Amino acid sequence: MSEALHKLVILDRDGVINADSDNYIRTVDEWNPLPGSIEAIASLSKAGYLIAVATNQSGLARGYFDEITLANMHNLMCELVEAAGGRIDVICYCPHAPAENCACRKPKLGLLEQIGAALDLSVQGAWLVGDHEKDMQMAVAGGCKPVLVQTGKGSSEASKLPAHLRTQVKIVDDLAAAALFILAQDGCNIS
Ligand SMILES: [Mg+2]
Ligand SMILES: [Zn+2]
Repeated sequence: MSEALHKLVILDRDGVINADSDNYIRTVDEWNPLPGSIEAIASLSKAGYLIAVATNQSGLARGYFDEITLANMHNLMCELVEAAGGRIDVICYCPHAPAENCACRKPKLGLLEQIGAALDLSVQGAWLVGDHEKDMQMAVAGGCKPVLVQTGKGSSEASKLPAHLRTQVKIVDDLAAAALFILAQDGCNIS
């Protein structure tokens, strides 16, 4: 990657950073980081990457939790990353239900556009790490480099990725492995 380009990693949240649940993550107590995920984010941040989170949170529209609770989850996430020496630069989420047919629910590109606007840069060429086909679809459509972790829904998603995505997606074990892959691909020294 040339010096002229910014370094940006966009992360899905549930199943990538924290353990996912079929019943939605509804409270701060239910927001539990996956092993190594916080340190992985910090390692990317310390290597000079901007870190963005792009997450579908239809639980808001469904009334399972409110914006204040979501903000408290995200404060915890940011505090843990900062305690590990890194930072999350921007968090964008879709609060809508699928039936609302909004422009920001993944795999649509609205969250990528929000991240680009918030950071005042193009997301083209950014890394995008997720655990679901929707994340990979958004990455490819948005010109990002897709990495699928096999935490969360990722292991079942990996086995059923359509052929056109499978050829473009890098599949790794977890966010720690994704971070190592990204740093190696970009020629960053890993200390
Ligand atoms: Mg996910
Ligand atoms: Zn939305």
